[in-house]
Amino acid sequence: MSFNPASAIQDLLVFGEFGDVNPSVTDSVTYTFLSPQRMEEAFEHEIEGCFLYSRHWNPINRYLSQALAAMEGTEMAQVTASGMSAIASTILQLCATGDEIVSGRTIYGGTYALFKNLLPRLGITTRFVDITNLDALTKAVTPKTRVLYAETESNPLLEIADIPALASFARAHGLKLVVDNTFTPMIISPAKLGADVVVYSLTKFANGTADAVAGCICSTTELVRELTDVNSGACMLFGPVLDSLRAASLLKNLHSLHVRMRKHSDNALALATWLKGRGLRVHYPGLADHPQHALFSRLKHAGIGYGGMMTLDVSEATTARELMRVMQEELVGYLAVSLGYFKTLFSAPGSSTSSEIPPAEKAAMGLSDGLIRFSVGLDDDIGRTLTRLEKSLQRCKLLA
Ligand code: PLP
Repeated sequence: MSFNPASAIQDLLVFGEFGDVNPSVTDSVTYTFLSPQRMEEAFEHEIEGCFLYSRHWNPINRYLSQALAAMEGTEMAQVTASGMSAIASTILQLCATGDEIVSGRTIYGGTYALFKNLLPRLGITTRFVDITNLDALTKAVTPKTRVLYAETESNPLLEIADIPALASFARAHGLKLVVDNTFTPMIISPAKLGADVVVYSLTKFANGTADAVAGCICSTTELVRELTDVNSGACMLFGPVLDSLRAASLLKNLHSLHVRMRKHSDNALALATWLKGRGLRVHYPGLADHPQHALFSRLKHAGIGYGGMMTLDVSEATTARELMRVMQEELVGYLAVSLGYFKTLFSAPGSSTSSEIPPAEKAAMGLSDGLIRFSVGLDDDIGRTLTRLEKSLQRCKLLA
């Protein structure tokens, strides 16, 4: 694939108010007009360079959206105040009462809870299926289905979605394919593989400093216009506006994302290979024995690895708790939810970020209570981290 998301962002030159290389932070919610007629015109249609009110659009959010659209190779993008609001706004724009969603079953717990518990109150229902099984997908689709939803790399089981296959399935059934690419920015470009909408929690790798909650929706100009329509747009009317100070820092961090993703990937591969070599149950799509290693290799850009997410299954919840406590003590990283930070983070999704999923469903999808999810950091000396990990495993009697 010739598309290079990092080069696409690099080519986006921004000239701030005084030629600033970083555009000025918009510190205003409202904007003056020199004449009432011009203001009325701005309500009727968009005027290039004109802003009305910051819940609708503001200059720095526009710049960040342009960078994200460039990164994904979509016509346009819309930034939001969180990943969840990006997902919720997208669904509410695409679906109405009576409509259905078909979704991957191993998805982020918050998205699962939105689909399973909240959207049915609005008359939007979801069937959760194993999206790697085309027969199951076909059975789940009805004439009411509008959206096919998947995570590129699922949270927390790290299953890879075959985006080109899902895209042709969606096209054949008249569905919109919405893909959450939070785990694999710069590595996989879902829109280039046929997704109609790409959503992100920018809170994670895209920002990388764990200091801002943010999200985005990358898609066609048409969908972004619908989302921001003053009379009917989910973003405009539910109002999940990203704060402009955060937008400014996100825009700067986005320019180092390709470098960070390479380092996250190299470090995760080193840890996963080492753990595998010691006979531990590790899942990492960069390992040749991961069930979808070949698929991931086919979908990803060249010259960048398999991402920073890895899991280790130690079977029992009590063992996982003890290992996480010890790893924090041994300075492997932080016992914390979230991901994409410059330091390693680990948590047990079964009892934290995926606790919304009922026990029977967790068992059916293979989510063990002893599963520890790692978001591997940017450690300069991964050998030193391996020594610390080895000591932690020995202290927990998981290694001799
Ligand atoms: N999508 C995925 C894959 C996530 O992991 C998360 C959060 O962990 C979200 C969406 C929600 O994002 P946010 O916390 O920014 O609302």
